[in-house]
Amino acid sequence: MISAIILAAGNGTRANLSENKMLHDYNGIPLLLHSLSVFSAVADEIVVTCRPQDEARIKKLISPYHARTCHGGNSRTESVFNALETVLGDIVLIHDGARPHVTEKLVRDCIRCTEQYKSAIPGVPTVDTAAIAVDGEIISYPVRSELYLLQTPQGYFTRDLRAAYELAFAEGNAEKFTDEGSICLKYLGLRPHIFPGDRANVKITYPEDFNVATRVGFGVDTHAFYGENEGMPLANFIKLGGVNIPSSKILKAHSDGDVLVHALMDALLTAAGLRDIGYYFPDTDERYRGADSMELLSKVLRLVEEKHLQPQNVSISVLAETPHLSPYIEAIAQSLSEALGLPRSAVGVAAGTNEKLGYVGEGKGITVYATVLLK
Ligand code: MG
Repeated sequence: MISAIILAAGNGTRANLSENKMLHDYNGIPLLLHSLSVFSAVADEIVVTCRPQDEARIKKLISPYHARTCHGGNSRTESVFNALETVLGDIVLIHDGARPHVTEKLVRDCIRCTEQYKSAIPGVPTVDTAAIAVDGEIISYPVRSELYLLQTPQGYFTRDLRAAYELAFAEGNAEKFTDEGSICLKYLGLRPHIFPGDRANVKITYPEDFNVATRVGFGVDTHAFYGENEGMPLANFIKLGGVNIPSSKILKAHSDGDVLVHALMDALLTAAGLRDIGYYFPDTDERYRGADSMELLSKVLRLVEEKHLQPQNVSISVLAETPHLSPYIEAIAQSLSEALGLPRSAVGVAAGTNEKLGYVGEGKGITVYATVLLK
């Protein structure tokens, strides 16, 4: 039987958040749930350590999984020790809840390695040169080829790990250990076995670590051209991406009719999990009559920013039988790159016809598709 202990009792002070980082959103769901869902597919029993003040929220969060909570201690070691007392499996895996990129493969490798070698620690060789420094001065260089960065999950036979922890606590300086391997090495003389870790299995520690979360967004908009005898306003251009493009046909709109920017705004808003532009700028609202869509775009960017997200790149496809857009593509991309604060290379704009098919092909309107990536 395989037991897993997921550590979520830290105070996460280095993440500089107002709440426990385990409960903080990472890629759309609380950080803790990423590893929990992986372990729930492999482990027979899961114990999540938590601080008493977070217990109610964590209990609710883990309720869909076969997992229970256990109070953590004042240190990582104490938390593991508390949970270790309660597990029933003959093999136990200890995992930092702050490593959301753990995979089922890594967990299964860990179990296999534990069965074979009585211990398992995922490790990756260091690529940087490491040094030992005291008071800002390097005093020695470890041999790089012998250095590994250790990750979790670490696997052991439960009886071995319990024995090691009991000895460490009996001696009274258990807090100084930062992983299970060091305790087993010291108190059992057990040389922990390293198996290949995963470079993606990083620990989310600092505020900027949360920024790796990416979100994709997609938006579509269509505007119809004025037909004959439909009281077309006097104008000889349409707006796409804030650029005036000469056109004999004019798009119907409550705002300035920038169908491209409308699609882009919906992509941005939905990527951030927000409502669509119709919600923020209703076309029944007189304030938005003839509105400059580029101004609305800057409002949308502020809404996205409030969610701590920023566009990384945008990809836009315009379907229009008329006007002929290719001479204006560069100007549109340039205008969007300025508005979004993105390098020109992060803005892609394509334009094509619809081969005379459908409303676009009949020249009755323009449809734009927009995709964005937020970080
Ligand atoms: Mg529109």
